[in-house]
Amino acid sequence: METMKRTVTCGELRADRAGQTVVLNGWIHRKRDHGGITFINLRDRYGVTQVVVDTKTPAAAHTVAPDLDAVVAELRSEYCIAVEGVVRLRPEEMANPSMPTGAIEALASKIVILNKSEPLPFQIDETINAGEDLRLTYRYLDMRSERMQRRIKLRSDVTFAAREFMINQGFYEIETPTFIKPTPEGARDYLVPSRLYAGKFYALPQSPQLYKQMLMAGGFDKYFQIARCYRDEDSRGDRQPEFTQIDIEMSFVSRDDILSITEWLMGHVFMKTLGIALPERFKRLTWEEAQEKYGSDKPDLRFGMELRDFAPYVEAAGFQAFKDALAEGGGVKALVVRGGADYSRKRIEELEAHAKIYKAKGMAWMKVASGATGGAALEGGVAKFFTANAGDVIKGLDVAPGDLILIVADAKRKIANTALGAVRVKLGKDLRLADPRAFEFVWVVDFPLFEFNEEANHWEAAHHLFSQPQEQYHDILESDPGAVLGDLYDLVLNGYELASGSIRVHKPELQKRIFSIAGIPPEEAERKFGFLTNAFKYGAPPHGGIASGLDRLVMLMAGETSIKEVIAFPKNSFAASPMDDCPCEIEQKQLDELHVVVRTP
Ligand code: ASP
Repeated sequence: METMKRTVTCGELRADRAGQTVVLNGWIHRKRDHGGITFINLRDRYGVTQVVVDTKTPAAAHTVAPDLDAVVAELRSEYCIAVEGVVRLRPEEMANPSMPTGAIEALASKIVILNKSEPLPFQIDETINAGEDLRLTYRYLDMRSERMQRRIKLRSDVTFAAREFMINQGFYEIETPTFIKPTPEGARDYLVPSRLYAGKFYALPQSPQLYKQMLMAGGFDKYFQIARCYRDEDSRGDRQPEFTQIDIEMSFVSRDDILSITEWLMGHVFMKTLGIALPERFKRLTWEEAQEKYGSDKPDLRFGMELRDFAPYVEAAGFQAFKDALAEGGGVKALVVRGGADYSRKRIEELEAHAKIYKAKGMAWMKVASGATGGAALEGGVAKFFTANAGDVIKGLDVAPGDLILIVADAKRKIANTALGAVRVKLGKDLRLADPRAFEFVWVVDFPLFEFNEEANHWEAAHHLFSQPQEQYHDILESDPGAVLGDLYDLVLNGYELASGSIRVHKPELQKRIFSIAGIPPEEAERKFGFLTNAFKYGAPPHGGIASGLDRLVMLMAGETSIKEVIAFPKNSFAASPMDDCPCEIEQKQLDELHVVVRTP
């Protein structure tokens, strides 16, 4: 092997190297036989180089190994080989400008097989048609594809750029433990049984939240970590049992300091890795505005189509269902689909079915047609109830002939917003309203601190228990939790929640009040979080932070829709890894040591 060790990679040869003798190592991407001359596309992670094996045509000063023909006859796809050869310019008509190495080829003098390959379960670069489990079983082959190589490189670049930025801003990268006391972030914990302490468990962190707060108490006022988090949730498209965050915490800061550092971080990462300049400041919406305009706390701002308040047109019209919704304190919201007047009844029913998934009881509609005397008129659906004030509706919603108006009313305003917001997102996808290459960041701020959990019948923290209520609500925390806004913020990119964070509580009394409103009795609060409230007793500084999902960030930068495409070894949709068959059974001896008794269902 020694002499056949690569002297160049498969991506670096250009015309200026013509005449040099080189050794390439790589995989056989394609092999074609052209009447006694063999062309091999040799691939490694740097690129592809064309290798030519021609033992028939004598070339000046080119001696070939005696076994060359025999070795070449043996070669198959994905054999790992070493090639020694002379770089030569391709004849003009054979040059391939779309290939970085397309001006040259290597005329082989010797080939050594480093390792053979069995027939492949799928063609490299054609994994798009292979099912998820097949791709994951042979992830090492899937990874050889150009797409996966590009994404994993992007991930490495993004991670490096993030580290570089944070360190340059004076942050320390500090690792926090992965065997911890449970840190609640709203999911189930993964647990690790302790051998030394029978019946006790470590939890894997849902996030480093409490430890990063301890670091603030410890005086490290600017912390970050590329942190692995573990949440046992039901798997969905872009969820994984484990994922990575760019976790940040700072002391003596206000909300705007955290937003700014995050904007700079994103700006640096996008410029460094994609050469894209982001706006210096991202748009901001309050949570309330996001709900009212987009029916979502993670709006996709790559397209407009804002929800409109339809309440002003309800009183003068004769449609009782809308009046009832308003009388019960709810909302009536409208969505205008430009040019949607030609939608069939079936299409509108499909949209209604979508609204119903989000608990809407129904969805009303009207079309805008040309009026008899010119101008616009309402027709179809519920239009007959709006004859008296059709002009107001048309003017107020600024609709024109050819438009479609969709309306959802509900006694719960949130349902009207959310259901119509979901229809907005569906139409955005169906009509391809969003530019797939655009990156639209928006901050959503001023979230409610608490949410009422109907099932459990008590208030819960909307983000997590450690977020600070805004100053002006401190007096009404107990009396009106639903009205309290928190110092909370989410960063949204193209309709995905990319980061979330908050200014934290740092005083023991306030933290105890929050535990109690969230229905955690004092003894339980002491047992679970006593270490945190204790730390707050010793001059813990005011602090706040944020965590950005690294997987999601890279996924969006790569133009993908699943984080699995940017994770080297993700789990499948059932939280398992078909490659190494994990999770797996454990031998009885090991279970005994861990004091674990397995109950089979
Ligand atoms: N720990 C939080 C989370 O994982 C983020 C934060 O508040 O910094 O969502």
